[in-house]
Amino acid sequence: MELCTYKIIIKGVVQGVGFRPFIYTLAKQFSFNGYVYNGSFGVAIVLNATQDELEKFICTIREEHPPLSSIESIEHTRTKQENFDGFAIKESVKDRGGFTNIPPDLFVCEDCARELFDPKDRRYRYPFITCTNCGVRYSIINNLPYDRANTSMTKFTMCQACEAEYSDPTNRRYHAQPIGCYECGPKLSFLDNSLNELSSGNEEPIELTVEALKQGAIVAIKGVGGYHLVCDATNDVAVQKLRKRKHRPSKPFALMLKDIQSAQELAYINDQEAQLLHSPQRPIVLLDKKHETILSGDVAPRLSRLGIFLPYTPLHLLILDAINTPLIATSANISDDPIATNIEELRSMEAVYDFILDHNREILNRCDDSVVMVIERRIITTRRARGYAPASLKLPYPLQENALAVGAHQKNSVAIGSEESVVLSPYIGDLGNIASIKSFERAIKDLQRIYNFNYTTILHDAHKGYDSTCYALAQDAHKKEVYHHYAHILSVMVENGLKDQKVLGVAFDGTGFGEDATLWGGEFLVCDYVGFKRVAHLKPFLLLGGEAAIKEPRRVALALLFDIYGKETLEIECPTLSSFSKEELTTLYTMWERGLNAPQSSSMGRVFDAIASLLGISQTISFEGESGMLLEELYDETIVEVYPFDIQKKEIDISRMIIGILEENNRQIAVSKFFNTVIAIIKSIYGGYKTLPLCISGGVFQNRILVKLLHKEFPNLFMNEQFPSNDGGIALGQMASFMNISKNS
Ligand SMILES: [Zn+2]
Ligand SMILES: [Zn+2]
Ligand SMILES: [Zn+2]
Repeated sequence: MELCTYKIIIKGVVQGVGFRPFIYTLAKQFSFNGYVYNGSFGVAIVLNATQDELEKFICTIREEHPPLSSIESIEHTRTKQENFDGFAIKESVKDRGGFTNIPPDLFVCEDCARELFDPKDRRYRYPFITCTNCGVRYSIINNLPYDRANTSMTKFTMCQACEAEYSDPTNRRYHAQPIGCYECGPKLSFLDNSLNELSSGNEEPIELTVEALKQGAIVAIKGVGGYHLVCDATNDVAVQKLRKRKHRPSKPFALMLKDIQSAQELAYINDQEAQLLHSPQRPIVLLDKKHETILSGDVAPRLSRLGIFLPYTPLHLLILDAINTPLIATSANISDDPIATNIEELRSMEAVYDFILDHNREILNRCDDSVVMVIERRIITTRRARGYAPASLKLPYPLQENALAVGAHQKNSVAIGSEESVVLSPYIGDLGNIASIKSFERAIKDLQRIYNFNYTTILHDAHKGYDSTCYALAQDAHKKEVYHHYAHILSVMVENGLKDQKVLGVAFDGTGFGEDATLWGGEFLVCDYVGFKRVAHLKPFLLLGGEAAIKEPRRVALALLFDIYGKETLEIECPTLSSFSKEELTTLYTMWERGLNAPQSSSMGRVFDAIASLLGISQTISFEGESGMLLEELYDETIVEVYPFDIQKKEIDISRMIIGILEENNRQIAVSKFFNTVIAIIKSIYGGYKTLPLCISGGVFQNRILVKLLHKEFPNLFMNEQFPSNDGGIALGQMASFMNISKNS
C-alpha cells in the first residue's frame, strides 16, 4: 500500500499528561517517521503511514492513552507528501482555534509516593517530587502551550540530573514541566505570623510545622491552588481557636487524613466514595460520620456528615506521615472570601494563624479544594475546583459569538465560550467585598490570558445589584441578561446534553431575581434553549428586613405566620415567637403590614429556613444551607405522611403545611412530613407536564434527603452532577442561553 503523509490532531486533556512520549514510543513501535508536537488546540502528529497502519495507530491511541489523559476527538487529514528522518518530539507551536483542555492539578502518583519514602532515591523526602503522571498543572500555568517556560517553574533552572530525565523520552519525567530536586527545585520555609523566617530548606520546616501542630498551633500551609489553615482536629482548644479567629462559628471544617484506613475510623465509606477519595482529583468527599470518634466536637457541630480528603501533595504526605492524627485543612480565608494564594493575601489575616509553612513556587491561578458527595450512586459536585477545573464542556449548538458569562453573586464561577465549547473557571467564592471582586476580575483575566481569548458579548444575571452584573455592565461589549432560575435549568440541560425538546425545570434555591422584579426561588419553569415560561411557583411571602431575613430564618417563619394569622400571630407560643422581644415583634409586624423594607420572595430555600425556626432548630444561621443540613439530620424514612397544600392559579400555597408543623410536637415527624410534602408538590406540578423530561437545579437540591426522595420518585430525572447545582453552575447556564440553535454543531 501507498505511504502517505498524514496530520493527526488529538483534542482533549492531552497536554501535561505524558501524551507526547506516549506517541513517540508508539510511533517507534510502528516504525513511523515523522514528529509530534503540542499546539494550543491539543496534540498534533505528522507522519508517513499507509491507510491501514494509520487506522491501527489511531485505534491503539484510543485504547492505550496515558492514564491522566482523556481524548475528546482524533481527526486526521492527508497533507503534502514529505520525507522524515526517524520520529521526533518537536517544540510546541502556538497557533489559533478552539480551546485546549488545560490539565488540572492532580495528586501525587504511587510511583512518586514510593520514591518519596525510599531512602535510596535521590528525591527521598523531597516535598515537590512529581512526574508526568502527577502533580501541579493548572495552578502554575501562565499561558499555553503548556511548557516549563510558560509556568511558574520557569525560574528554577534544572540541574543536570533533572535535565537528563526531562530529555529522555523513555523516562517517567520526560517533559514533566514541574520537576525539580533538592539541587534545583522549589524549597520550603517556615515563618512566624509576623513573616520572620525561622527556618528554610526541606527537612526542618516540616519538623517545625509538625511540632507546632502538636502544640495546638494553627499553621497556614501553602498547597496547590492556595493556602490551608491547618490544626490538630482532635484538639478542642485548637479547633475552637480556629473557629473564633476565622469568624466561622459552625460551618463544618474539612479533614485531611493520612489514608483510607484513618478515614474509615471516622466515617462510613462505600466503594464509590473510597474511589473518589483515592481518585487523582482528590476532592473533599462528604461522608457519614461514625458516632464515636477521636475528633473534637467542634469540627462539624450538630451534623452527622464529615468532609474528608486524602493528602494530594508530597508535602501533605510528609506532614501526615510525621504527625499521624486527623488534621483540619480549611481554605485560608475569612468567611467565604477567596482563598489566599500568596504572602500578601495571607498577611491580611495574620491574626488567624500562628505560623506559615511556605514555599517559593508561585501559585499563578487560584484554585480551592473541590467538594463532592455520592447520593444514590450519583456523584454530586458542590464545589468544582482543584482536580477538575478548568474543564471544558461541549455545547449541543455553537455559540452566536465569543462570550464571557460572569455568573451570579454567591459561589461565583465565570465561563468563557467559543464555537461549541465552554470553559468554566474554578469556584471563585462569594462576591460582595473588594477582595472577592478583585479575585473575580483576576479569574476572568486568568482565563483570557491562558486561552488567549477575547469576547464580544458578555452574559450576566438579571439582578442589577450583583457585583458580577455591575462588572458586566461596565464592560465595552454587547450585553445580554439571563434570568437566574432559567440559567439554573439550562445548566442541567447542557450538562446532560438535552436537545430539541422542552423540559420541566424545577429551580429551588435561596434567591434570584425574577421577571416580575421579586425574588424567586421556588420555581417551575417550562424551558428550552430559546426561553422559558413560569408555570408554577411558591406563593410569595415577605422577607422582613430584606437581607436580615436571610441570616435570620425566624423572620421568614414570622412572615409566613403573619400571612396566615395576621395580628393574632403575636399570641402564638412557638420557638419562632419566643426568640424575639416584644418590641421586635411589634416592629416586624408593622414592617409586614406596610410592606416596608420587606421584599417579596417565593424562595424554597427560605421555606427550609422557616421550618427550622418554627421547630426551634435554628433561629439564625451562620452559613448558607445550614437550616437544610440541620433538617436532614431529623429525617425519618419510615414516616410517609404528607402535609396538605393548595395550588391555585400557578401559586403553591403552603399555609396548611405551616399550620400542621406548628401543631406538631414531634420534630422528627414534622421534618419528615415536610420533606415528603416538598416531593408531593413537585409530583403534583409535574403531573401536568409528564411528557417532558424533569430537570432540577438550584442550591436546595444539594440536600441529600431531597435528592434521595426525588430519585426514588423520578428515577429518570436530570440533575447537575459534574457541575454544581448551586450558583457555581450559573455561568454555564448563562452561556447555554447564547447558542445559535438554528445551527447544529
Ligand atoms: Zn508521579
Ligand atoms: Zn534537579
Ligand atoms: Zn441560585
